[in-house]
Amino acid sequence: MSQAASARPFIVFGSPEIGDDEVEAVTQVMRSGWLGTGPRVAEFEKAFAQFKQVESSVCVASCTAALHLSMVACGIKPGDEVITTSLTFAATVNAIIHAGGTPVLADVDAQTININPAHIRTLITERTKAILIVHFAGQACDMDEILAIAKEHNLRVIEDCAHAVEGTYKGKPLGTLGDFGCFSFYVTKNMTSVEGGAVIAKSPADLARIKTLALHGMSSDAWRRFGDKGYKHYDVVECGYKYNLTDMQAAIALCQLKKVDRWWEIRKALWNRYSEAFADLPISVPVWVNQAHKHSLHLFTIRIDPKRTGIERDRFLEAMNERKIGTGVHYRAIPEHSYYRTTFGWNPSDYPVATKVGRETVSLPFSAKLSEEEISYILHNVREVITSRA
Ligand SMILES: *Cc1c(COP(=O)(O)O)cnc(C)c1O
Repeated sequence: MSQAASARPFIVFGSPEIGDDEVEAVTQVMRSGWLGTGPRVAEFEKAFAQFKQVESSVCVASCTAALHLSMVACGIKPGDEVITTSLTFAATVNAIIHAGGTPVLADVDAQTININPAHIRTLITERTKAILIVHFAGQACDMDEILAIAKEHNLRVIEDCAHAVEGTYKGKPLGTLGDFGCFSFYVTKNMTSVEGGAVIAKSPADLARIKTLALHGMSSDAWRRFGDKGYKHYDVVECGYKYNLTDMQAAIALCQLKKVDRWWEIRKALWNRYSEAFADLPISVPVWVNQAHKHSLHLFTIRIDPKRTGIERDRFLEAMNERKIGTGVHYRAIPEHSYYRTTFGWNPSDYPVATKVGRETVSLPFSAKLSEEEISYILHNVREVITSRA
């Protein structure tokens, strides 16, 4: 390791930008005496709905919770199959399993890393009930094709928008094209509430059911029972979950939402900078396939093909770590994980594109918070590691 590297602080992958306004907002909630689900959550649900150009949204504890509740609201039960992508975070697939459904994996498109609609078609059976897609890295899936398949076979469509808070498809906000849109406010995402998520839905009845399911199945606005309007009895109408967001988290999310568009512009400039700087290196850079759809620019994923680059992907990750640059892997293909292999008998070779991408992909730091000095340092070190193959 060079001296310069040993002296500098580690660049944490996906570290969020937190300002004085977030700190102040949290302090206010802490001093208010109402820390749980309450007025700040209600305010954020309104603000987020407005941002997504829909009537209403429901806040939940995580995108994982959002996906699970969407599955329940779709009526997924044991024996039902849900087709999803083979290159995603475990939570996407786990949500199907939590609801009792059977996940069925489709391979991805080599360029967008999004679910391949042609492969979806080959997987449909009479047990298929839904398609759960992921807008990978924030780039919209081929929604015309996916919605056409869904219509033909009477399937529900759930959009995992964990990467895609700002994105659009033909001008429509991502999450509004299918039956449900699920969002994440986890720390590394484009905006954060530390932990948190939100659901939007095409049908108001579906969304109302999700709101009830997210808080023990208690009749709506149960959080008001301890407010200043006097104690209110609630009715438990079904067996729900403990998936509520808190006012502490919503206070952070309210501040972050105001900055989302500004941060996107910063990442767009960084995307162009990385793309230009790496153009002559023997690596692949991500492709924004259709500029007509707003890409959420959540990840900047390069691909290290050892045959072409002359270095193994995992060695590249280590070299970045030695140089104090935090990286990510989004993701190893789902069938590479032992649980899924042993439970469902999936074989990585049956998902050749996802498997290859998963073995080559590296996510570089891509936060709006990166300083000019850090960006130059990253550009220099990626080049040095690739060209020296060490
Ligand atoms: C982060 C992520 C999730 C889970 O989000 P949480 O809010 O952490 O539950 C789900 N799907 C994808 C694609 C993700 O990247």
